[in-house]
Amino acid sequence: MNHEFFKIISRDEFQTLLMNFRSTGTKASTISDAFGMVLGEDIVSPEDLPPVSRSCMDGYAVNARDAFGAGESNPAYLECRAELRVNEKPDFTLNPGECAAIPTGGSLPDGADAVVMVEHTQDLGAGTIEIRKSSAPGDHTMLRGEDAAKDELIFKAGHRIRFQDVGLLAALGIGSIPVHKRPKVGIISTGDELMEITAPPKPGTIRDVNSHTLRCLVSQAGGIPVNYGIVRDELDKLESTLARAVAENDLVLLSGGSSVGMRDLTVRAIESMPESEILAHGVAISPGKPTILGRSGEKPIMGLPGQVTSVQVVMLALVAPFIRHLMGQTDAFSTSGRPVVMAELARNTVSKPGREDYIRVRLTERSNELPLAQPIYGKSGLLKTMIQADGLMIIPADTEGYYSGRSVQIWMI
Ligand code: AMP
Ligand code: MG
Repeated sequence: MNHEFFKIISRDEFQTLLMNFRSTGTKASTISDAFGMVLGEDIVSPEDLPPVSRSCMDGYAVNARDAFGAGESNPAYLECRAELRVNEKPDFTLNPGECAAIPTGGSLPDGADAVVMVEHTQDLGAGTIEIRKSSAPGDHTMLRGEDAAKDELIFKAGHRIRFQDVGLLAALGIGSIPVHKRPKVGIISTGDELMEITAPPKPGTIRDVNSHTLRCLVSQAGGIPVNYGIVRDELDKLESTLARAVAENDLVLLSGGSSVGMRDLTVRAIESMPESEILAHGVAISPGKPTILGRSGEKPIMGLPGQVTSVQVVMLALVAPFIRHLMGQTDAFSTSGRPVVMAELARNTVSKPGREDYIRVRLTERSNELPLAQPIYGKSGLLKTMIQADGLMIIPADTEGYYSGRSVQIWMI
């Protein structure tokens, strides 16, 4: 097969191929280690939270009916039955005409369904409390089960655990949850010209940048990066390192070898793996066209561009969501999880139709206006465009560009 005449597929088609790979297995995790991990199973609330109705304010627990319609000019007068403490479960039922002093967080006695803030009351002495504000059921109270009701589905399998979710799990006493394992991601840099960053420089060599940036982006996505160093452009060397990386990881990334002559090397190395197949040979995004997807058995292998900027964009656009997919996240490829800001495009920006363009942009804040998005152009072999960029503007494949002044979404990086 002549790999020079590779078939380029759309970003959507590429994504569909990625989504066909199965996620990693699950394990039990303590909730302190679960931050950023993805749930392996649905989580159902074991109890009502709060377990009893509680006060949100310092004040008086009342039956709202007794204070309904009360105001500055026509206060209600209630008899103070008790002074409750925060850690006390009242053992009485509030009768009509009665109230109970209650601190923030205190449990409401039976018969009470609202709290009147202390600011709207006056202690008249001899156990009489003047209420100067109308009250409705539920006012200033957290009702039993309002955060979570017993047996309610609180998180679905495939949900990535955020800090606020850890808070709910803690409040429910759920100390251990099933999560997907972090995918191990092997990283191989290829190229005769590459050298380790600490080696003495020699003419004709360049330092290996991609091993380092890929490592950061793998970690950021939730994977565990495993570096295999630099491999020369020789098939047998590439094959042996790739075989080791495939055996030891859930995903293997190769960078470099994307020039037409060299592409065959990556493809041939992938094809030499057991039960291997090339699934995609080019993707219609810019930068990042020379991206290869293959597999060995169930294990995905990706050949990424060598250009330092292109590979960073491909990591953000395709590989990071893929890592989140591998670790079980249901909506890994949806754009809704991306940090996005709206901005006004500073100049006309053309885009070649037929490919999705990832334009690096720099944002300038303005008072009372959307930030201004300035496209940054530059060669993909230079690190500069990504260094200067605050975010990426994506121009869809079917669009020939955007006019200046347009409101655009910027994906913050
Ligand atoms: P290639 O895809 O191997 O043809 O590489 C394209 C360009 O990216 C060449 O200029 C390479 O020297 C450069 N390149 C490839 N791999 C790396 C790397 N790991 N670090 C820095 N530059 C690289
Ligand atoms: Mg190369």
